[in-house]
Amino acid sequence: MKNRPAVFYRDLNNVPPTIVRGEGCYIEDSAGRRYLDASANAGVVAVGHGRTEIARALAEAGDRVTFVYNATFTHPWQEELARAILGIAPSNMAGVYFVSGGSEANESAWKLARQYHVERGKASKYKSISRWQSYHGVTLATLSLSGRPSWRNLYAPLLLPVTHIAPPYEYRCAYCRSSGGCTLQCADDLERAILQEGPETVAAFFAEPVVGTSATGLVPHPEYYGCVREICDKYDVLFVADEVLCGYGRTGMPFAISAWNVEPDIITLGKALASGYAPLAAMVVSEKVREVFAQGTGRFVHGLTYSGTPSACFVGLQVFEIMQRENLFTRPAEVGAILMGMLNQLAGRHAVIGDIRGRGLLVGIEFVADRRTREPFPERVGFTSRVVKALRDRDVLVAAGVAQSNLGGHGDHIQLSPPFVVSNAEIEVLIAALDTSLSEVESQTGVKE
Ligand code: PLP
Repeated sequence: MKNRPAVFYRDLNNVPPTIVRGEGCYIEDSAGRRYLDASANAGVVAVGHGRTEIARALAEAGDRVTFVYNATFTHPWQEELARAILGIAPSNMAGVYFVSGGSEANESAWKLARQYHVERGKASKYKSISRWQSYHGVTLATLSLSGRPSWRNLYAPLLLPVTHIAPPYEYRCAYCRSSGGCTLQCADDLERAILQEGPETVAAFFAEPVVGTSATGLVPHPEYYGCVREICDKYDVLFVADEVLCGYGRTGMPFAISAWNVEPDIITLGKALASGYAPLAAMVVSEKVREVFAQGTGRFVHGLTYSGTPSACFVGLQVFEIMQRENLFTRPAEVGAILMGMLNQLAGRHAVIGDIRGRGLLVGIEFVADRRTREPFPERVGFTSRVVKALRDRDVLVAAGVAQSNLGGHGDHIQLSPPFVVSNAEIEVLIAALDTSLSEVESQTGVKE
C-alpha cells in the first residue's frame, strides 16, 4: 500500500516516467533521460516546453489574478484573448466561449447548435452527424461523435445515436479506388446521411478539417469542405470544424479550414491555445449563430465553473503573444515541408511506408505489409506499437495512431506532431531515429526492406 502510487493512472500496470523538466522540443525524466518530443505530448505543446516567461508573467500578474465565476463577472484577460482569437479567425467569426478542454468545447458546440435551432422555432433539429476515423472527445456526447470504435465499444450502451459518414480517406477509399482518385463521394455521403435521418432532425455536422490520431493527416480534396458547406446550407445544418488538434497554427495557418476558403458556423480550439501551460479550450461562434441568440433569448443555457478562468486566459494571452512574435501561427508550413521531403526520401528505403500525409506539423505515416496492394499488417503483429517503442528506445516520442476501424482493427500508423518551434536539426534527429527504428522493426517482423 505504502509504495503504491496515489494517482489512479490510466494504466495501473504501467506507471509512466516522471517528467521533471522541459525545454523547447525536449523533456527530461527524473532519471535524467532526455526525450525528443516529436508528439508535442498529444499535439499540445506548440510554443515549446519550459517557456519560463509564461510562468514569470503569471507570477508578476499574481496579485491581480483572482477567480471569478463567468455567470456573474468577467475580467479583462478573457475579453482580450477573445479579441485576439477573433483577429486571426475566419472573418465570419464573432464570439469566443472559453472552456477547459477539447471535449468540453465540442460538447458545448453540439448544445449550442441544438439551442440555435430551437431559438429559430426548429425544435425538431437536435441530431449530429460526424465521420468514421474521427475523434472529438471522451465525454459521452463527444465519444458518441467520435468515429473510433476501439474507444466506443466499451461504452456503447451509454452513447447517443450519431450517424457516421465515410471519412475523406483517399488511400483506403473504395470510391476513390475504382475511380482513380477522389470523386468527392465522401462529401456526398453527408447529403445521403442527412436525408436518411430526415433534414428536419439534423442540427450539426462535426469534422476535423485535417484528421488527428484516428487516421492522422487526412487532408480532404480541395473541394471537399466547399461541398460540405453547400450541403449544410441546403439542409439548414450547422458545420462545426473541430480544430482542437489541427487549429491554431499546427497546419501552418491560424485556422486549418482556411485552406479550403470555407467559413464554418462554429470552430472548436484547444491544445495549442494555451500550449499546455493551462487547461484552456474554446468554442468560436459565427455571426450567424450569435445573431440568432442576440435576436432570441440572448442566453445560452449552458455553463461550466471553469469557463474563462482568469489565470488560463492570462496564459492564453502569453501564448498568443509568443506565437505572434515568433511567427508560430505559420512556421509549421515551412518546417512541415522539410519534414515531408525527408519522409518521402525515407519511403524509398522502407517499403512498409504505405502513405505519408498531412499538412504543416500534423503528419501521419501509414504502414503496410504490401505497398502494392496496401494490405495492412495483421493486428497481432502490433507494428505501430513496435515502431513507437523502437523510437522511444532511441529517446524519440511520437504518437501511436489508432488502428483503422474500416480495416477491422488492422492497420497501423503513427503521428508526427512536434512543437511549432522544432528546428531543422531536431527534424534530422527524428528522421534518423525513424530510419533505424523501422529497420529494427522490419527485422523483428520479418519484413524485407
Ligand atoms: N477533438 C480533437 C480533434 C482532438 O484531437 C481531441 C483530443 O485529442 C479532442 C477533441 C478532445 O480534447 P480533450 O482531450 O482536450 O478533451
